[in-house]
Amino acid sequence: MRLSALVTKTVKDVSQSDVSRNAQLLTKAGFVDQLMAGVYSYLPMGLRVLSNIENIIREEMETIGAQEILMPALQPREIWDQTERWDKVDVLFKLKGAGDRDLALGPTHEEVVTPLIGRFIQSYRDLPKAVYQIQTKFRNEPCAKSGLLRGREFRMKDMYSFHMDQRGLDDFYKLAIEAYKNVYRRCGLGDSTLLTYASGGVFSKYSHEFQTVTPYGEDIVYRVPDTDIAINKELMNDRDALAGIIPNYKEGDEKNLEELKAIEVGNIFKLGSRFTDSFNVEYAGVDGEKRKVVMGCYGIGPSRIMGTIAEVLSDDRGLVWPDEVAPYHVHLVSLCRDESDISRCEEIYAKLKSIGISVLYDDRQGVQAGQKLGDADLMGMPRRVVVSAKTLADNCVEFMARGDKEATLTPLQTFYSVLVED
Ligand code: ATP
Ligand code: MG
Repeated sequence: MRLSALVTKTVKDVSQSDVSRNAQLLTKAGFVDQLMAGVYSYLPMGLRVLSNIENIIREEMETIGAQEILMPALQPREIWDQTERWDKVDVLFKLKGAGDRDLALGPTHEEVVTPLIGRFIQSYRDLPKAVYQIQTKFRNEPCAKSGLLRGREFRMKDMYSFHMDQRGLDDFYKLAIEAYKNVYRRCGLGDSTLLTYASGGVFSKYSHEFQTVTPYGEDIVYRVPDTDIAINKELMNDRDALAGIIPNYKEGDEKNLEELKAIEVGNIFKLGSRFTDSFNVEYAGVDGEKRKVVMGCYGIGPSRIMGTIAEVLSDDRGLVWPDEVAPYHVHLVSLCRDESDISRCEEIYAKLKSIGISVLYDDRQGVQAGQKLGDADLMGMPRRVVVSAKTLADNCVEFMARGDKEATLTPLQTFYSVLVED
């Protein structure tokens, strides 16, 4: 991709109501644009990041056997009455459709998915099953000042699993935990994300949240020493639960746990028959007896993950994208002025593309070197390659990984193989 052709530009100052670090950085870099509080457009570079995150999630969900579907955002009131949640979900966006009909914009999809998949389940032979979707969700959040971390319109992957009994659910739930850990690792958040016990739904003692530790977080969690496990603040008064989580628990031990701020990047629940009761979803067992299907639900926010990466992995120069999430792998900066140097740089660009490396090519003319290098830092591709008359005179390029302090002069011959191996 040529920067001269990119529709967006980096901007020095962003005057918007939202001063969160992720929104500031992503807006300055031209990745997103705020329409109103909690509502963003994704621009070409930002959309590539979001799609990369969503594809990682997709791959990990397919690996555990879930099948992708897409459900409507627009939903009739009746299904929300059936689960008695029309007045209980405080963030539910309600609107009037034609004929004065009450409608909702989906903040989550149990009301749609339960009767939908229920229609395909008759007997034990039809179980277990799992479906997921990656979709735009709507929540009327009272305070949307955290950029992509708390949208009123945002992206969610929500998965729902259907089982004969609690044991089947427990087994799939464990697989889901591992799949989620893979997602955070591939998004560069593996080391900072804790599996966190949080208050449960109606049917299990706890749910599990995935909490990424950062001073910018809105949640408070307590880490169990020497583990990647934590307990959400709201759980901390439940002695029995603490005894089940903290090894060799003695009363008062919880006071020694490290208190950390964190962002909830995922949440998984055992729903039991909470929703299959409402929609009467049953299956015939081996003995022919009818039994309730039990369910699990598994949420993760791709747009919140994007905002979290921007908060957690960035530095004072700008964004820092991990490999699998980055819009492009190499930021090729041309500081060439002569026709012959420019055409050699064009060859480097063509060669990189031909060996399968995705490149953002700063081919802009009339832009100062300082501005180009500043933009490369701000936009945060994992590798920067600078080509100038000086480097070309030595048959070299200047190579630097985004985290490095200094660039190294690398001969053109070895440079391609270094990138391919990387
Ligand atoms: P929070 O407590 O932060 O409001 P939640 O517990 O209501 O979140 P869930 O219903 O568990 O959220 O949603 C599943 C996942 O979707 C969350 O773990 C998060 O990653 C993402 N998510 C939820 N709400 C938002 C939002 N307003 N903006 C962006 N992502 C969100
Ligand atoms: Mg949650």
